[in-house]
Amino acid sequence: MPDAHITLTAALDGDSRAHFGEMLKRSFDVATIDHGSNGITVSVRDDVPPAELHQALKQLLRVRRYASGDCLFVHEAPNQQNADPQPALEAKGEVCSIAQGLFAFRGDFLRVRTALDSRVRMIAGHCGADELSYPPLWPIPLLQSINYFHDFPHLALLASGVEPEYMARAAFANRFRKGSGNAVIACTAENGLAPAHAALAPTVCDCCYWLLRGRRDVVDQISTIYGQVFRNESSPDGRLDRLTAYTMREIVMVGSEGFVLAKRQALLDEVAGLMVDLDLACNIKAADDPFFSNDALQRNAYQNLSRLKYEVEVPLYDDRKTAVASINLHEDYFSRNYDFENADGARPFSACVGFGYERLTYALFCRHGAKLAAWPRSVCTFLELT
Ligand SMILES: [Zn+2]
Repeated sequence: MPDAHITLTAALDGDSRAHFGEMLKRSFDVATIDHGSNGITVSVRDDVPPAELHQALKQLLRVRRYASGDCLFVHEAPNQQNADPQPALEAKGEVCSIAQGLFAFRGDFLRVRTALDSRVRMIAGHCGADELSYPPLWPIPLLQSINYFHDFPHLALLASGVEPEYMARAAFANRFRKGSGNAVIACTAENGLAPAHAALAPTVCDCCYWLLRGRRDVVDQISTIYGQVFRNESSPDGRLDRLTAYTMREIVMVGSEGFVLAKRQALLDEVAGLMVDLDLACNIKAADDPFFSNDALQRNAYQNLSRLKYEVEVPLYDDRKTAVASINLHEDYFSRNYDFENADGARPFSACVGFGYERLTYALFCRHGAKLAAWPRSVCTFLELT
């Protein structure tokens, strides 16, 4: 099993260790991380040359040094319930596991999730956002143009159909009939599967920029989209804070630099206000995307240093935390990659604010307890749940 050691003059603090471990696991199948007195020793199950692993460790530590944890906003909320509400929600049948990372919702959990979307949709309305809707299957070039498969191979999920020929369809139908014992289907030509022309949407905003591709008359605009998104990950202990399929709403801004920066600031203020109204403790702080691969680590540092991404981090129970929303400034990334301009020939800026609803709902149940009837009246009134 390849391993690598890196010498440190001073040990990492608890937060840095957690962040280091989390970032390492994005790229490698980590067996052990040993924080010794003179450094860190990491062992991975991947077949990676030790020199490459060592290089990755060095870059991760550099990123960690840049990661400032710069906090924009803190809201303290005393008397956190501090117990996992999921067992009680599952016992009531409001949260039902379908498979690893996939859940069904009903009852109060679903009512709260729906109410949260109403509130966020209202924020979008205040900004004058235009509502859009599109399918959760996106053409491969939409994601390839923004290097999604290179940056996030660990999160990608592709959708493939069966080859449009009689023999391929007959072979597929026969091989995977009821009782065949096949719980998984290898995506191979032998199984009759066609190349994937689409991938499951990993977020809801990218399609907004894709719709502008090639345009030379882009004006300042705000959109909002609600949708189901998919990422190839799940919580190892089956909790609701990391799902393979979940719902989100984004508010998306495209336009001049001044317009996008002003709207992003206004939305940051709205998000902070929402957390206060929900009586949810939070930190809104600088963050980075879970890029895969070594060259992307440099971009984590750039994102963090340039304050391109902020996350709204909330406590769940014990030491468990999660990010329930993110505020992202892309500068001209999408206009360059999808080739769109405003009427003056300039590349528009873009930004988005996204809310992950299952996480936000879960965080609220962690905060106020598994019984909706016992929640503070102010929160129920705010969510119009009374
Ligand atoms: Zn987005």
